[in-house]
Amino acid sequence: MNENSLSKMPTLPVVGERPPILQGFFGQTEIEQDSFFKALGERPSLRIKQIHRWMIQGETDFLQMTDIPAGLRRKLAENFVPFSSQILLHSKATDETEKLLLEFPDKKQIETVLMREEGRATVCLSTQVGCGMGCVFCASGLEGVQRNLETHEIQEELLQIRALLKAGERISHIVVMGMGEPLANLERLLPALDWANAASGLGISARNITISTVGLPKKIIELASHKKPYHLAVSLHAPTDLLRNQIVPMNEKVGMQEVLNAAQQYQEISGRQVTYEYILIAGINDQAHHARELARILSGRQSHVNLIPFNPVKGLPWQRPEEDSIDLFRDTLRQGGVSATVRKRKGADIDAACGQLRREAARALPGVLKPLGV
Ligand code: SF4
Repeated sequence: MNENSLSKMPTLPVVGERPPILQGFFGQTEIEQDSFFKALGERPSLRIKQIHRWMIQGETDFLQMTDIPAGLRRKLAENFVPFSSQILLHSKATDETEKLLLEFPDKKQIETVLMREEGRATVCLSTQVGCGMGCVFCASGLEGVQRNLETHEIQEELLQIRALLKAGERISHIVVMGMGEPLANLERLLPALDWANAASGLGISARNITISTVGLPKKIIELASHKKPYHLAVSLHAPTDLLRNQIVPMNEKVGMQEVLNAAQQYQEISGRQVTYEYILIAGINDQAHHARELARILSGRQSHVNLIPFNPVKGLPWQRPEEDSIDLFRDTLRQGGVSATVRKRKGADIDAACGQLRREAARALPGVLKPLGV
């Protein structure tokens, strides 16, 4: 993406500043919501349930929530906007991938992506503002972690995307692979996923929810202890500690064997096969001997490797491998007895790779967006 490419994006509405008086209804605490309704002589539990039901169905205009009395709808619209986050940018790719840049009241920004494929609508969720893991290929980690997202902020990501869906569409899958390390914010993430899974929430099958981690062994075991049937994906990105230390610097503190042991324990406790993610970077970790070593360390495990050809990121020197190298890597793994597939590229024309939109937007719209750390 070049310096002026934001202006070439398929869609790019910029939402104006929200009047400071209006709070996001979804970001209010239970106590605040209760006192709002009680002051109006209303039963809080009933009204909150009604509003949530509308939002889950994609309706975010209080005035259209027709089973709520008209006077109360007007009061809601006068006092609140639906969410604490506002959409700063919304881009849509030619393959129907959509990406939101959301800003919270403290001016922190995150990205959330909707990917459409073969009847599926998958949301890629962020869990932190920025990321502290420092993977060298990733735009999200370039400036460190700013803070964890709250549970309601993660829920808002889903509801903001829900409101974009066309009639008849529903969110079918969640991948927690956006900005941040999900297991570093597990206590806030799990309630949000449980709500997404619940029949009274978004009703998304637990088997269609994937949590992707760079590999925090203690946290993987903690997640296993919750006995949730969520799918776990572990990002390896290298077959040896020597190489992984360079690509995923936090590996120096834990070591690959610990990560693999924890993943094995997760599999045994949950009964669910673990997926290993491997980003392919030209000339760095994409050669046949890397694939042979990866097959060796995964042999004897029930596992699947998801190969992700690198999406070029402005400011980073890495390149995507040639198609032949990608195919050779995949075939070498398969010959070594490891199931492997190559992930299709989604949203290429809107910079859908994690962290890229926010950085590009901050450069192109300095008066509207603030870069991390400001
Ligand atoms: S790839 Fe994931 S874990 Fe690594 S820096 Fe980026 S967001 Fe963090």
